[in-house]
Amino acid sequence: MRDSQARTTYLKDYRPPPFTIETTDLEFNLYEDHVLVVAKLLFKPNDGSDEPAPNALTLHGHELELRRLLIDGKNLESDQFFKDDDSITIPGLSGLLEKPQQQFIVEIHTRIEPQKNTALEGLYKSKKIFCTQCEAEGFRRITYYLDRPDVMSRFTTTIKAERQKYPVLLSNGNNIGSGIDEKNPDRHWVTWEDPFKKPCYLFALVAGDLESLDDTFVTCSGQKVKLQIFVEEKDLDKCDHAMLSLKNAMAWDEEVYGREYDLEVYMIVAVDDFNMGAMENKGLNIFNTSCVLANPSTTSDSAFQRVEGVVAHEYFHNWSGNRVTCRDWFQLSLKEGFTVFRDSEFSADMGSRTVKRVEDVNFLKTVQFAEDAGPMAHSVRPDSYMEISNFYTVTVYEKGAEVVRMLSLILGQENFRKGTNLYFNRHDGQAVTTEDFVKAMEDASGIDLSQFRRWYSQAGTPVLNIIGNYEAGKKQYSLKVQQSCPDTPGQNNKLPFSIPLRMGLLNKNGIELPLRLKDEKVAESTDRVLTVNQETQQFVFLDVPERPVPSLLRSFSAPVRLDFDYSREDLYFLMVHDSDGFNRWNAAQLLASDIIRELQNCAASNSLQIVPPILINAYSGVLDAVLKPNELDKAMIAHLLLLPSEGSLIEQVEIANVDSIFSAREFIANALAKELEDRFAAVFEANSSDNPFKTDSGSIAQRALKNLALAYLVRIGSDYWVECCFRQFEEATNMTDQMAALRCLVNSDSKLAIDLANASLKAFYDKWKDEPLVVDQWFMVQASCQREGTLSQVKELLQHEAFEIRNPNKVLSLIRTFCGQNYIGFHHASGEGYEFLADRVLEIDTFNPQIAARLLAPLTRWKKFDPKRQSMMQTQLRRIKAETNLSKDVFEVVDKSTIN
Ligand SMILES: [Zn+2]
Repeated sequence: MRDSQARTTYLKDYRPPPFTIETTDLEFNLYEDHVLVVAKLLFKPNDGSDEPAPNALTLHGHELELRRLLIDGKNLESDQFFKDDDSITIPGLSGLLEKPQQQFIVEIHTRIEPQKNTALEGLYKSKKIFCTQCEAEGFRRITYYLDRPDVMSRFTTTIKAERQKYPVLLSNGNNIGSGIDEKNPDRHWVTWEDPFKKPCYLFALVAGDLESLDDTFVTCSGQKVKLQIFVEEKDLDKCDHAMLSLKNAMAWDEEVYGREYDLEVYMIVAVDDFNMGAMENKGLNIFNTSCVLANPSTTSDSAFQRVEGVVAHEYFHNWSGNRVTCRDWFQLSLKEGFTVFRDSEFSADMGSRTVKRVEDVNFLKTVQFAEDAGPMAHSVRPDSYMEISNFYTVTVYEKGAEVVRMLSLILGQENFRKGTNLYFNRHDGQAVTTEDFVKAMEDASGIDLSQFRRWYSQAGTPVLNIIGNYEAGKKQYSLKVQQSCPDTPGQNNKLPFSIPLRMGLLNKNGIELPLRLKDEKVAESTDRVLTVNQETQQFVFLDVPERPVPSLLRSFSAPVRLDFDYSREDLYFLMVHDSDGFNRWNAAQLLASDIIRELQNCAASNSLQIVPPILINAYSGVLDAVLKPNELDKAMIAHLLLLPSEGSLIEQVEIANVDSIFSAREFIANALAKELEDRFAAVFEANSSDNPFKTDSGSIAQRALKNLALAYLVRIGSDYWVECCFRQFEEATNMTDQMAALRCLVNSDSKLAIDLANASLKAFYDKWKDEPLVVDQWFMVQASCQREGTLSQVKELLQHEAFEIRNPNKVLSLIRTFCGQNYIGFHHASGEGYEFLADRVLEIDTFNPQIAARLLAPLTRWKKFDPKRQSMMQTQLRRIKAETNLSKDVFEVVDKSTIN
């Protein structure tokens, strides 16, 4: 048995570092089969530590070949220090120093082999480009160091390499010198100096044959900043959108948060092999190509929006993450939750606010709620971890963002801005905690946030159970609110949260009623935020002339499950009348979910399945609205007409029957298509214009609506619509339309579509095989195919010439799409899907533990399924756990997910 306790790091064990590193001088000599690194580190005992500096120095280091080690210029012999797999310790420090208890210099010479680094952490090679990924603990794979975020140092970096192969040499900060190697004129060097102190996880280095798209931005105080996006030459025509997004983000952060950029240059580099989306290294962001490159012919609209969001996210980190950073990794949400909130508000301002909210919440409710209900559930600020890479989760990011969003709602716009100003000013240049963030909000606003802090420490999704009661005689309407939160691993019996519940009341004509609570003299408004902070509470509204329909949790004002017994008529009513766009969408989802559940029951009892007229009326009403100009935001309509996803339907029930959810959902979608064919056809025609391609939110919405109508029409199965779809596939001038048509063909059961799908997939690959990001989409569309036999298709694709198991984008496109999004395929009753995933995890864990651990998520959701599937999923988890050489990453997930 392996001891999971011994591998665990606890928040309660945090101690300040014994030493600080004032300056970090790095020299890299890059060669084809290895790299020599010389680090000169100026150490000082840490004044901020309560304990005296110890007489030993321990540094982190992993997979390094140590060549030389010097202290204050004196070479250490091998008996003067000891090494293990993860560190080096120099005992008897005072005897080695010129001036004990004062500053000293440690010089470390290491040799590394980035070419063989398949984990993609530290310094590695992506095709011909040297690049780095140091968050969270990658820097220790470059040299020995105090690899922890509360050690902030001034970095100077010199890179030396062959001129021809690596004309571009980049690191953080400003370029302060360059030249030709005097002894070897084939080689050149560049020196970079970062004037800002930073933890080593923000270090970056890039060397390669790259071209750049250049631009400038003038900051609010008049500083000229050079902006550069570095890519391979063939991708230069795909950088405009990222550049525009960057400039918009810089301007937005000045206006909304008063944050100005602080270096002479801001650089983005795109690489193919990258475990994450992108990384905010100071002044030198490194991006997965999928989050930079965008061009109408190769990139779909959702990917355009993703590029905008990720570019902004990494830019915003310059303040929320870099200038003010995390004290330790338990505080990860300090930078991620806050920055996700910032980027989502930016995207809301650039496009449609309601649609952005719908997309974010849909993701949160499907993926984060599932995490909260599973074995890996943890609070926004976790208490412990075995492998920190496993905590880059939707809870830390997305739920963390929801927590900041609630703060902004509770404080109000003005106080929230005061709070962020105070936070940035008070902690500039420091490594701090989520507590410091909340404290700044409290100090700036004067609002007591003691109870609110539980959002950071208590895991799980709170449930709000609300009962409405109207008393006609008193003209009173009351809401009885009960809150609870399920137990999660290691946390039982949670205390009440402080939950902002935004709401309104509608009369039978859809008019919003003024809201006057008992003990109030006058009604404040028709939309307000109630504070729910006890286990049970009652809110009584006065002067309510008739039984109202309550609109609750508007804009999803808190990340909770809401339980209110709405009738179908109420939901239909809210879908049509609610002034809150988010709640109109939510009502549509609840209505459709309820009907899907009814159909599942009908199927189970072998009774006749009929789609109730209320749903058909609701959909036809929305479709009629589209055809009237300016009636509703088109992007919003496309969302209103989407049935709840299988993932969200699975999340809504205790034990999910995947097959019956799938069949009921299909049954309804097909019935809607047949009933409303004329209207879908009219919407399709009305939005199929030949306007020049644009990526503004109006044009994106128009394409979304057209392709949604097409998807319904192809369901009818008539040759007419299948041919129409095929025509769109062939004639499309942009990837959004082409991919939408391909997806319809691949998922249709019509005989004609099946023939056309195979030919189209082949034609598509032949056309795009030189564009890796398009090939990723091609893998995805096949992996998400809901027809029988997809798993064998996926297995065959593993052998395809374009599939590379070492490239994270390919693995995620094919394997994660199948296992994480194709519910009917992955959860096939044979259990083959589970075995397939376990095989791939074991294979990938031998060279890239981070990706292997991330792939495991669908197996950890075993609790949601029937006993037979549960047992098959457990069998695979146990099979993985039995493997002897598992990485820490995979071990932690299987250890927490298996029951004995
Ligand atoms: Zn981030």
